[in-house]
Amino acid sequence: MKYSYHVHSTFSDGKVSIAKIIEHAKILGLDEVGISDHFHISVDDILIPCDMELNEFDNYINEIVSYEKQTNPKVKLGLEIEFVFETMDQLKKILFQKPLDYIIGSVHMINNKIIDSSIDSLPSNFCTDIVKEYWIKIRQMAECKFFDIVGHMDLTKKFNLKPKIDISKEIDAALNAIKEADMTVEVNTSGFYYPCKEQFPSTHLLKKCKKLGIPIIVTADAHLPEHLTRDFDKAFKLLKEIGYSKLAYFTKRKRFFTPLE
Ligand SMILES: [Zn+2]
Ligand SMILES: [Zn+2]
Repeated sequence: MKYSYHVHSTFSDGKVSIAKIIEHAKILGLDEVGISDHFHISVDDILIPCDMELNEFDNYINEIVSYEKQTNPKVKLGLEIEFVFETMDQLKKILFQKPLDYIIGSVHMINNKIIDSSIDSLPSNFCTDIVKEYWIKIRQMAECKFFDIVGHMDLTKKFNLKPKIDISKEIDAALNAIKEADMTVEVNTSGFYYPCKEQFPSTHLLKKCKKLGIPIIVTADAHLPEHLTRDFDKAFKLLKEIGYSKLAYFTKRKRFFTPLE
């Protein structure tokens, strides 16, 4: 089965409409394409520039649902949601009974600051406190047992900055929580195109996931239709070397598996 699930349209920071994405997915011969635009409920009502406006949310759902009967490719309704512990109850209320196929939970913000937009805007304690805090947030997100997929799990390496303290305890705690919550980890190929020059998460972390029996899915974090399956072959090869033999896919927030070919 060929599919791509981490995809952004003009509802958030993607470059083209949902219709254009679907059109290109068809050209690529995908069986399924999932749209996963950015969404989050902040504590102070501050909108992240790339996020969908709350009043656009129903239009987003309705547009994707309008493709419900289409089979070539099947169109899946996803979201990439910023994990904000304080607003989880509000979020659950908004998403209640929405016909979502999957939710990607991501952490792009620490202490209300975006950590992946530019290296120049990173605080001086980035390689110590912030990186540690990132993994604590990943653990807390898993502990909520609400999200299906962990988005770009080691995003803090994006600018090729290495932690200056030992964070192995926080990482292990996060991975154990992910296992405990039965979440799926995405292998996000967009990482190859940033200074870190490797997929999110790193091979070392993927090996740990394999040991724990954490399921995986390969995604591109596409903001352009041409990137829908960018470097998937590279990711598939790596995952086979690590010992993975199947990939997760989702329907109405239930997980299924397809062979890794
Ligand atoms: Zn993201
Ligand atoms: Zn994304």
